[in-house]
Amino acid sequence: MSKTKKSGDYIAIENQYGAHNYHPLPVVLSRGQGASVWDVEGKKYFDFLSAYSAVNQGHCHPHIIKALTDQAAQLTLTSRAFYNDQLGRFEKFAAEFFGFDKLLPMNSGAEAVETALKLCRKWGYEKKGVPINKAKIVFVSGNFHGRTLGVISASVDPSSTGGFGPYMPGYQVIPYNDLASLGTALLDPEVVGFICEPIQGEAGVIVPDDDYIPGVRELCSKHNVLFIADEVQTGIARTGARICCDHYEVKPDILILGKALSGGVLPVSAVLADDDVMEVIRPGEHGSTFGGNPLSSVVAVAALEVIQREHLSERAEKLGIKFRESLQALEENPMITDVRGKGLLNAIELDIDEGSDLAWQICLDLAKSGLLAKPTHGNIIRFAPPLVITEEELDQATQIILKVFNKVESMSV
Ligand code: PLP
Repeated sequence: MSKTKKSGDYIAIENQYGAHNYHPLPVVLSRGQGASVWDVEGKKYFDFLSAYSAVNQGHCHPHIIKALTDQAAQLTLTSRAFYNDQLGRFEKFAAEFFGFDKLLPMNSGAEAVETALKLCRKWGYEKKGVPINKAKIVFVSGNFHGRTLGVISASVDPSSTGGFGPYMPGYQVIPYNDLASLGTALLDPEVVGFICEPIQGEAGVIVPDDDYIPGVRELCSKHNVLFIADEVQTGIARTGARICCDHYEVKPDILILGKALSGGVLPVSAVLADDDVMEVIRPGEHGSTFGGNPLSSVVAVAALEVIQREHLSERAEKLGIKFRESLQALEENPMITDVRGKGLLNAIELDIDEGSDLAWQICLDLAKSGLLAKPTHGNIIRFAPPLVITEEELDQATQIILKVFNKVESMSV
């Protein structure tokens, strides 16, 4: 497409030739660096969505891009019919980084969730002794684990499920942040796993009570049920810790990672578990053409090296505290019900119906002022910048947010 084309031209072509499965803000991006992105007209924005927390290491991080380009010229894909010289390095690096015996590589987050569910069911039959085809997995309301049929079958969001049935059997959904309901659900001896996000991202950055994740760990251990932590969005330094479960000193039985595992460069996801769980998967029982390819493997190691070398967990923790403190003043505004989050995964909730377009209008105003964010569920706006954002950039971005939100009362009348 010629350089003279404007945002409207790119939007028109997507609208004509692309499926309408997203509703993007009318901004057309063509470049990114660190915490910033630029549109085709050259306007600069702070990226406060970070590709749904995939770009924790910042856009086009030089260390990751160098690893990508060097490896791209060497070997990209071999298929798992053969060994390659990078996969083992990735598996060892990531397994040691996150403290598990083994890793199973996939591509998207949803695939990794599916993988974890399969692994859990198999463990239930082989290790827990549940009668064949009877295994149950417990989910929580407000969950978001991706878009495949196996995953949406557990969703309670009608826009995820409507028109896509029939759904997967063997699932039960209980309320989030409710240990009493979990205790009751786990009394069923056919339950093999419990899956949740330690902070619900897509639901609107819902942070559970401090005793929830430790309580989940205790109940799962007591009832011989695998605790599966979906840290596709919360993992890899986003919440101010290596994974969100670290805040509670909890080790899940199965850890699911995606998004920032590649620094947003290409799709890489993974399931991690110790040997007693992972050994139930044998050759031919699960796989993926692209999972574990040398290009992804090299990129993932580089992405984790950036987390380590640049102390991004500590940065997210420190900057997150400062960010929330700066936004607390907004809670005086009667239109704002909550400012919450952990690390650099934060949200502002508005006192409006989910059907109102106020949050959308605020995001348009933020974009006009040079900051990109997107509503989730119509009344919540998530703020999740790349973790490499400098303190000065964060201050500038905070001023934009305060200025726009201070107008909210007048926007709503
Ligand atoms: N799990 C969680 C917690 C997520 O937030 C997401 C995506 O937002 C997924 C799974 C699905 O990941 P993907 O979109 O890469 O399939």
